[in-house]
Amino acid sequence: MTNTTASILQVNGRNYHLPTAPVVVVCVDGCEPDYIAQAVAHGAMPWLKRVLAEGTVLTADCVIPSFTNPNNLSIVTGVPPSVHGICGNYLYDVASNTEVMMNDPKWLRAPTLLAALADAGKTVAVVTAKDKLRKLLGHGMKGICFSAEKADEATIAENGITGVVDLVGMPVPSVYSAELSEFVFAAGVKLMGNSKRPDVMYLSTTDYVQHKHAPGTPGADAFYRMMDGYLGLLDAMGCVIALTADHGMNAKTRMDAQPDVIYLQDVLDGWLGAGQARVILPITDPYVVHHGALGSFATVYLPTGTDAVALAQRIAALRGMETVLSRADAAERFELPADRIGDIVAVSERFSVIGTAAARHDLSALDAPLRSHGGVSEQRVPLILNRSTTGLDPQRRWRNFDAFDLALNQAI
Ligand SMILES: [Zn+2]
Repeated sequence: MTNTTASILQVNGRNYHLPTAPVVVVCVDGCEPDYIAQAVAHGAMPWLKRVLAEGTVLTADCVIPSFTNPNNLSIVTGVPPSVHGICGNYLYDVASNTEVMMNDPKWLRAPTLLAALADAGKTVAVVTAKDKLRKLLGHGMKGICFSAEKADEATIAENGITGVVDLVGMPVPSVYSAELSEFVFAAGVKLMGNSKRPDVMYLSTTDYVQHKHAPGTPGADAFYRMMDGYLGLLDAMGCVIALTADHGMNAKTRMDAQPDVIYLQDVLDGWLGAGQARVILPITDPYVVHHGALGSFATVYLPTGTDAVALAQRIAALRGMETVLSRADAAERFELPADRIGDIVAVSERFSVIGTAAARHDLSALDAPLRSHGGVSEQRVPLILNRSTTGLDPQRRWRNFDAFDLALNQAI
């Protein structure tokens, strides 16, 4: 699926020009556009304020489920999950009858643009906040690929670099901190300042701050001020910078500040009998402090013989549900691999989330009112380029996975 002719690289059916200036694509995890608007209004993003005036500013749709892994993989492959195969952080593997994390590259069905650029002789560097994404993003790629989370474990053999902690000059941050993302930006600036600077760099942060802090609050503004400083440094080095997000973020609470949860496994156990249906939450990952595994997207496996269309209608009538679709309809509408989703896909509204059974969610770790994502309500994300462009169609449905197209093909 990869071809190079002269200076054009074809990956997954899309054409890309090889970079002539260093290109940096940044995925700001959980960057609801309002975080930027509020931070700019509060004077926290002087660099971005200038880019918003002089560069290219679009809003784009991320892929559904609006989760981290599917969207990061869409950004680096340029295609939706129906092509690359990564449709969640977590899935029910029908073949082995087990529920597993989707971090292993064996789930990836398409090559990444990053690997193709490296094969075309370009120097590529990838820095991600959490280690869970590293192997997927770096799959088949020659170059530098490490996480802030395990920066102290980076080796030449595994990561293409060693001595990262000394290079960056920051201690390895806690996985639950704003500093985990700052480490990504700081590393990006150090790598770009190197004598052997990368031709292409992909930086991916964590949404720890966005899960806790609403747009315009001091905690959020401080994060965006930090980011603005590092992006300004990369800009000053001559980088073409495309900034987008994997998904947005919304408050998902009742008025008593408790999460507004539809416990779908409990509902279906009541309707069909205990354990007859299996509710899978693809947001599930090892980092539950953020969100207690509660997001606005679930998929349901049903016992054979169940009328999925009728049941989908019954689920759709639950208060707080937005869209409930059969497997085929969900695969078509959300561009998902039909063989990796259940018989039903359920998406909840902006203010509510979907759980499995109440007894299976430990919400004691949540230390702030729940903010989360996963639904159509978190689909709108920024797509910003620090360069002008001409002839872009403002009516086109831009996607966050157009970020590399924008940076490599459209930047002037
Ligand atoms: Zn995310």
